[in-house]
Amino acid sequence: MTSLPVCYVINTHVHPDHMLGNAAFDDEQTIFIGHEKMPNAMASRLAHYQRQFSEILGSAYNGTEFIGPDQLVTTSEPTTLDLGNRSLLLTAYTTAHTDHDLTVLDQKTNTLWTGDLLFRERIPALDGSINGWIAILEKFQQQSFHAIIPGHGPAAIGAESAVWQPILTYLKTVRTDIREIIQDMGTIDQATETVAPNACSNWQLFQHYHRRNVTAAFVELEWE
Ligand SMILES: [Zn+2]
Repeated sequence: MTSLPVCYVINTHVHPDHMLGNAAFDDEQTIFIGHEKMPNAMASRLAHYQRQFSEILGSAYNGTEFIGPDQLVTTSEPTTLDLGNRSLLLTAYTTAHTDHDLTVLDQKTNTLWTGDLLFRERIPALDGSINGWIAILEKFQQQSFHAIIPGHGPAAIGAESAVWQPILTYLKTVRTDIREIIQDMGTIDQATETVAPNACSNWQLFQHYHRRNVTAAFVELEWE
């Protein structure tokens, strides 16, 4: 929190819990930053979000604003934001949690904001590519960070590679089980009924997202 003007707002991706706060920072000098694919991702989801949230929120929805990025980060090259005594490295990824995930690394303290590339305690929500997501998580696991701030769940200070393990275990179990079903000519319904019913079922919101994750992963993996 600061009384100083806010120069930059960085969105890690377009999901509403990560982006609908933009309006609170919207004034002339604020620059909104996102992945190069964020404008498209926003355009394709906007009507759905508007309908869904106006239904859920009723009159509280009035005045809601969707503010997209002014500055884009490309997957071909990270962007460095020079804040004077602190530089932030913004990295845009190929498809993983979504097709437009962005991380922020504070190079001064070696603190990584993962956006939703990392969920802790709450079940991950797959809106991109299970293969892409696993590959990126395995790369993170090889790196060392002083602190990791996940998209959901508690921050990890003095972070070990073990921080990445629960989400990796979940995604890999889902992938292995689905591949087996596909090999046996099984169906998507069969997969949502049987895949990894106990793997990480202690995740928060497991009931709400697990079947959806299996469906999304199945659609991807059946074309392998
Ligand atoms: Zn998300």
